[in-house]
Amino acid sequence: MCTRHQTGAVPDPTDSLLAFIASSPSPYHAVATAAARLEAAGFKPLDEADAWGDVTGGRYVVRGGALVAWRLPDGAAPHTPFRVVGAHTDSPNLRLKPHPDTGNVGWRQLAVEVYGGALLNSWLDRDLGLSGRVVLRDGSVRLVLVDRPLARVPQLAIHLDREVNERGVLLDKQAHLTPVWGLGSAADGDLEAFVAAELDVAAGEIAAFDLMLHDLTRPSRLGVDGELIAAARLDNLFSCWAGVEAVATTTGDGPAIPVVCLFDHEEVGSASATGAAGPLLEIVIDRLVGARSGTGEDRHRALAASVCVSADMAHAVHPNYAERHEPAHRPLPNGGPVVKVNANQRYATDATTEVVFTRACEQAGVPWQVFVSRNNMPCGSTIGPITATRLGMATVDIGCAQLSMHSARELAGARDPGYLAGALAAFVAPG
Ligand code: ZN
Repeated sequence: MCTRHQTGAVPDPTDSLLAFIASSPSPYHAVATAAARLEAAGFKPLDEADAWGDVTGGRYVVRGGALVAWRLPDGAAPHTPFRVVGAHTDSPNLRLKPHPDTGNVGWRQLAVEVYGGALLNSWLDRDLGLSGRVVLRDGSVRLVLVDRPLARVPQLAIHLDREVNERGVLLDKQAHLTPVWGLGSAADGDLEAFVAAELDVAAGEIAAFDLMLHDLTRPSRLGVDGELIAAARLDNLFSCWAGVEAVATTTGDGPAIPVVCLFDHEEVGSASATGAAGPLLEIVIDRLVGARSGTGEDRHRALAASVCVSADMAHAVHPNYAERHEPAHRPLPNGGPVVKVNANQRYATDATTEVVFTRACEQAGVPWQVFVSRNNMPCGSTIGPITATRLGMATVDIGCAQLSMHSARELAGARDPGYLAGALAAFVAPG
């Protein structure tokens, strides 16, 4: 592995990833966890609303559930290109409706919306905690984390649903996913009063909230040889963690400016002020060029020579459904990052960007794999094509192989965190 990336390296990448996931049940927490890691590596926050004077060294900005961090060397010319790692902080889950207090036939319940393409069955019969953020009447924003069993979506007993194993679990999103959180009758304001007590503020102080539920099962190492990991939100906190590690540990003295951009709202199409289809990354790049008295010409030169790695998870071949994969493209956990290709541009990879990434893997001593969908299978997409379209930046889509994508609890390889962090560290600091 390249010695340039050894400053502040974590002793065990897999433990570091699992701790990152456990600390990050919501996008707001993912950003806070990333910011804490960056600050430990000497990064300083900048506020988007302030004038940016000195932008050199390690810096980061936070906007809601999104974060952009970079390490800008002293004296870097305004046309210096960027090496960007993009990932997303959000995962499919259940989010509280604005009037969450509801109930039926003697049960107290919480009204929820389904966020993103969740595997709904995976949310049944799990002990659920609560996380997110509230805005108080004074305008201040507070993170909320209730990391103890609070709610549950109970599955209907088989005695009342005799064909469930033959027919499959059919869940109506409105009727069947409403969690219980107690017995008795619901009253308006119950949830807000509960959260206010958690925060030690008066019940009337909460003006609005973005709150969601999370499975409380801790991440685990799994398998006869301990070579697998199981956790919530591997898609895509796995890549967020690796991108942050890559930029946190680089010295930033290479020929490009290392950047990590953690977007929100990928699971719902990325079209938001904090999503990849919004202007956040473009604004940061504009300001980094402008802060060094760069011109439009400098900005275009920088973008033309920049490369983005869109890091998101990939589908490992499933032993019980191997026919769902293209025969010559069957990634496995612990085979290293997967380069994702799609001729129809659902992934942004092309031959030139693939080589940039695989060279980084070679430099880091990391294996890699390739994925392409079957022609008769719909292909997912990522922030890669969106970033490429917005900025015209050369982009490659990659990610580590996992099973159970969009389940409340996903499965991946225990050696892949180290592989991905190593490959991204080499990518952001090309030799
Ligand atoms: Zn994803």
